Amino acid sequence: MNIKNIVLTGASRGIGESIAIKLAENGFNVFGFARNSDRLNSLVKKGQGRIFAYQVDVTKPDQIRKAYEEIETNHGPIDVLINNAGIYQGIEFYKQDINRISNIIDTNLKGALFCTRLILPYMIERKKGRIINISSVSGTRGIPLEVAYGASKHGMIGMADALAQEVKPYGVLITTICPGAVDTPLWQGDSPYHGDINEVTKPEEIAECVFYLLNQSDRTIFKRIILFPRNEWH
Ligand code: NDP
Repeated sequence: MNIKNIVLTGASRGIGESIAIKLAENGFNVFGFARNSDRLNSLVKKGQGRIFAYQVDVTKPDQIRKAYEEIETNHGPIDVLINNAGIYQGIEFYKQDINRISNIIDTNLKGALFCTRLILPYMIERKKGRIINISSVSGTRGIPLEVAYGASKHGMIGMADALAQEVKPYGVLITTICPGAVDTPLWQGDSPYHGDINEVTKPEEIAECVFYLLNQSDRTIFKRIILFPRNEWH
């Protein structure tokens, strides 16, 4: 598939920032969604004219819809959606604030569902498109202190597995990447595990994985890719 325009959620820092820079350096147009406009603007400066900032909260369908319409009008068809926006809290579930549980599900799961639902009519009409989800190893197995987070990331995989079958006849391909620990502000700041392991995946390595996927032909479908740092591989 000939790919030009890519929507990337959670573009303003961490894994999203690395993906945005890698893709822009390689000639793709990246339309980055996030809430913090200062961080988005500094990302745009690193994008050599190929990164465009959209202040979009993925929990707000109206904001997503408006951004898609603007991109399609001003830049042409959106070829790829990367659902990367996410928040995290590592905590015993019985202590977790109810509102925080809602925020995690709203951002990580409902945000991905909304962004995907609203892009699909465009992709189905053109009979092509790719969707890449950044889930987590927490979406593939249970990890203590990650009950709500893990539920949201299991949900992304459930979404992807069901949807992939629905949209296969329309030429829309879906891949889910499940990283282990990645050295980003999320992991440095909020993970109870970051003191335990001294070797982590770099955000640039996730960006390499995304770039690799985008370079594969439509005949090759990667359903799920799991990326562990070596010492988490068990
Ligand atoms: P960061 O906290 O470093 O970055 C998260 C990004 O998501 C920011 O750009 C943030 O921007 C954006 N974001 C958060 N909430 C929203 C929202 N409501 N609407 C739009 N954007 C939002 O996290 P990482 O880079 O580490 O994580 C990226 C993804 O990778 C997440 O889905 C995470 O769960 C997943 N992941 C991370 C791992 C890790 O160890 N770091 C391991 C496995 C998976 P802003 O605040 O400006 O909105």
